[in-house]
Formats: sequence, C-alpha cells, structure tokens
Amino acid sequence: EITNQCVLITGGAGFIGSNFIPYFLENNPEVQVVNLDKLTYAGNLQNLEEIAQNKRYHFVEGDICNRALIEELFEKYQINSVIHFAAESHVDNSIERPDSFIKTNIEGTFVLLEVAKKFWMESPNVPKKSYENARFHHVSTDEVYGSLGSEGFFTEETAYAPNSPYSASKASSDFLVRSYFHTYGLNVVTSNCSNNYGPKQHDEKLIPTIIRKALDGEEIPIYGDGSNVRDWLYVLDHCKGIKLVFTSGKTGDTYAIGGNNEHNNLYIAQKICSLLDKLQPKNSGSYSEQISFVKDRLGHDYRYAIDAGKIEGELKWRADENFESGIEKTIAWYIRKYQTA
Ligand code: NAD
Repeated sequence: EITNQCVLITGGAGFIGSNFIPYFLENNPEVQVVNLDKLTYAGNLQNLEEIAQNKRYHFVEGDICNRALIEELFEKYQINSVIHFAAESHVDNSIERPDSFIKTNIEGTFVLLEVAKKFWMESPNVPKKSYENARFHHVSTDEVYGSLGSEGFFTEETAYAPNSPYSASKASSDFLVRSYFHTYGLNVVTSNCSNNYGPKQHDEKLIPTIIRKALDGEEIPIYGDGSNVRDWLYVLDHCKGIKLVFTSGKTGDTYAIGGNNEHNNLYIAQKICSLLDKLQPKNSGSYSEQISFVKDRLGHDYRYAIDAGKIEGELKWRADENFESGIEKTIAWYIRKYQTA
C-alpha cells in the first residue's frame, strides 16, 4: 500500500489510464491522484464518471509538453510520483500524421522528466526527505522491440527495433527515461506491455471496431490475410501489473507484461463474431459473413509476443483473465455502450 503520495497520472482519460485510476484509488486509500490529460480525440471524461466526485481525485486539462503547467502542478500538489500514460497511441494515425507522435511521445516525456528531476532532485526549497522515494513510472509498449517471426518471445533483454513512427517515438521516450536514471539517478521504472483490450478503448482500435461494425451490419475490415499475431492482455491485468511495478519494481529496471494469449487478427474477428452470434443473434446467418479483407497496413509487424517471466517471478504478477473470459466481459461492455449510444 502507498501512503502520503500525490501521484501525477498523465493521459488518465484514455483507455488504459481510465481503467487504472479507479483501480488505483480503490486499492490505495491514502493516495491522491492528479490526472493531467489534454483531452485529444482519444481522451474521454465519461470513462471516469465513477470517480469524478472522489475527493482524492483531481482532473486538470492540459498538455504534457507545457512545462510551465507541469511545474505549477508539481508545486501546487507537491507531486511525489508520476505514472506516465499520455501518448498518441494509434499506429495507423502515426503512419498518416507522425508529427503529434514526436511532439507528445518524445518531447512530452522529456518535459515530465525534466520537471521531475528539477523538483525532486534539484530544488533548494524542497525538503529532500519528502521526495526520497519519488518515482517516475513510464508506461510503454512491446512494439519498441519490432516484429517477431513465428518463433520466440520478447523479453526485457530484446534489442529495440521499432518499425512504425508510433513505436519509434515510444522507443525514444523509453531511452530518455533510461538516460535520466543512468545520468541523473532519477528513480524510474518502465513497463512494456503487449496489446490491451477491454472496456473504455477508443472506437478506432481493432476489437471495438470489430464489435461495432458487426452490430451495425457493416463489413468488418481485417488487414491483409488476417495472419498478424498479437499477444492480448485484459486491460485490468495490465493495470495490476503497473501497480506492482510502480510499488515494487527495481529502480532503473524495465518489466515486460503480456498475457500469453497469442491470436491472429482473423481468429479475433471470428471469435467475437461467434460470441455475438450467441449474445445478439442476427435474424439469419452469422456475423462472420461480414468479415472482409482490406489492404494491409504499411510496415505491418507480423507478430508480437511477450515472455513475462520477470514480472511473474520477481513481483508475483499473474494475469487473472484468459482470453475467453476477458473477451466475453469486453463484448458485454461494448454491447451496452453501442446500444445506449
Ligand atoms: P489512448 O490513446 O487511449 O489514451 C491516451 C490519452 O493521452 C488520451 O486521454 C489523450 O487525451 C491523452 N493525451 C494525448 N496527448 C496528450 C498530451 N500531449 N498531453 C496530455 N495528455 C495527452 O492510449 P492508451 O491505449 O490508454 O495507452 C496509454 C499508454 O499505454 C500509452 O503510452 C501507450 O503507448 C501505452 N500502451 C498501450 C497499449 C495498448 O494496447 N493500448 C499497450 C501497451 C502500452
């Protein structure tokens, strides 16, 4: 349990952050959270309605690249930890328009590191004692490792080989975080997680797209021949992993998090369609008849898969959901969302 902490959470109105904050507040009754989010198209405060009135939760609309604002927040709330989720996160957008990825993911991370270093390590007016354990947790992705063939797994030791502007910008931010530990001794940890799925994900991502298009009677677009493999993790299992790394991870270390649930995109679409056939049967036929193959994504990585042995062994992390149980909960959530929309 964490006591006397005021944690700055960036990007908390996005998919993973908005699953993380309620879980984190509930499991740490003394912690205060300041959620700084720019509310881009990907941020949605409705995802945080359940905690909007919580006295330990404070929302600030703003940009992580705004150094004056970050300094003001560190001062005002006496921030003594950061969990950094904010990012431009959609690979397809990074292929079309990489600019905001460079700005937010690289420059924004740099600004946060600079302010944390200044406030926790260099400010003459700040009593050092209160910041002895001040920690910067950087939330990152397994996409920094590039693409696997049909064999093997990513581990914390895998060499970085990012292939998209998104993963290259995240790799750059990981390196900046690493450098602030090695150069300045800032207390950092990084987690690199595989693909998440679950409630509150933006409509543009694969699983919400499959469910929405299926229910709308539209074609369900699948890139290439649908054989690209991802290692799917239920979002709350990622949140539990982040909390463990944040509280107990070794300073300067990185932790790979993954669900050991490798599936290709065609399997995901077919699985969702067959569950929808049971939950929301069509008048005739199956939703799978709506699956349609579209031109492949440029530079599409073939396979990602994580060996999560380190976090499992060192921090006793385990995923609670397997893909079967997680996807059923997820579909039920989106059926409710799209039916009330
Ligand atoms: P998301 O796109 O759903 O949410 C990102 C949030 O950041 C949004 O609320 C957005 O408004 C905010 N934001 C964007 N630019 C900002 C800026 N300049 N200043 C302040 N806020 C800004 O993303 P997500 O899927 O929740 O991912 C969160 C983090 O986890 C990202 O760093 C991502 O790289 C990482 N990650 C995601 C996955 C995944 O499968 N979704 C897997 C591994 C790691």
